[in-house]
Amino acid sequence: MKTYLALDIGGSKYLVGIVAEDGKILASRKGAWPELTPEAVLDTVCGEAQAVLKETGAAPAACGITVPGLADPARGMWVEAQFSGIRDFPVCEAVSARLGIPCFCDNDAQAYSLAEMIFGCCGNERDFLYVNVSNGVGGSVVSGGRLLYGSRGAAGEFGHCVVIPGGRPCKCGSRGCLEMYAAGPGIARSYAEAGGGTADAKEIAERARAGERTALDVYDRVGRLLGSVIAKGVNILNPSRVVLGGGVVGAFDLFGPALKETVREEVYTNANPEVEILPTPLGYMAGLYSAAAIAVSRTASGRTE
Ligand SMILES: [Zn+2]
Repeated sequence: MKTYLALDIGGSKYLVGIVAEDGKILASRKGAWPELTPEAVLDTVCGEAQAVLKETGAAPAACGITVPGLADPARGMWVEAQFSGIRDFPVCEAVSARLGIPCFCDNDAQAYSLAEMIFGCCGNERDFLYVNVSNGVGGSVVSGGRLLYGSRGAAGEFGHCVVIPGGRPCKCGSRGCLEMYAAGPGIARSYAEAGGGTADAKEIAERARAGERTALDVYDRVGRLLGSVIAKGVNILNPSRVVLGGGVVGAFDLFGPALKETVREEVYTNANPEVEILPTPLGYMAGLYSAAAIAVSRTASGRTE
C-alpha cells in the first residue's frame, strides 16, 4: 500500500506523520516551534520526519506540506506567513533536498478541502464549502469538483467577511470581521466583554455545557455570525454540503443549532433545500490528512503544480 509523508506546518505548532492511502495513520508526532524561522522549521520537521520514517520503515511515494499564510504550489514556495518573518521560502526544495522525497505544498485552508475529498466526508461531493475555525477563520471552496484558488490563491476567506459594521478592528485593516468574533481569541474577548471574566474558548465551552448563561450566549452568537456568513456563501456557490473544522468546532454542540437556524433563515431555500452542515470527521488529525492529501492529489494527477 502506498504511503505519504505529511508535514502540517501550523502558525504555532506542527504535525508530522505517515499516512497510508487508505487513511490509516502509521505514525505521527506533534510539537510547538521553538521559533518561527525557515531554519528552525526545516530542522524541526525534517528531524521529526526522519523519526517517523525510521519508526515505520515506510518509503513514502511523496511528501505533502501545508503552510499557514500564502503558498505558491506551482513553485513549491511558502510565500508569506503574516505573523512571522518568513517570506519566499522554497520549502519543497529544501525539504526534498534533506529527505530525498518529492515534496508538494499548499496553503492549509485549501488543503483542508482536499483532505475531505480524499480522506474525509466529501469523497462524493462536487460542491462544498470548508470553514476552519481556530485562532482565525479561514476556508476553501470546491465547485464542480475543483478546488477554487481565485486570482491570488485566496478564495475562501470567510473570516474577513464583515459581520458587525464598524466593529472590532481586524489585522486585515477592516473592522467587524467574522474572525474577530468567531475565532478562539474573539470568543474569549466576547466573554470578557459580557462580564464572564478571563477564560479561553475551550474553558468557556465547558462553562456553557455546565449551564452558565453568559457562556451559552457567547456561543449562540458565534453560531449566528458564522451562520450568516455561511448562508451568503451558500447563496453564492450553491453547495450540497458545508464542513466545519478547526479547534473551535469541538464546541459544535453549542453553536451548531444557532448556526443551522441562521442558515435556514437566510439562504434562498428553494435553491438550497438540502444543504447539509456538519463538523469534519477527521477531527484533530485534519491537519495531517490535509498535508497527506496534497501529496496524494499531486501524484495521482501527475501534476507537478
Ligand atoms: Zn479582517
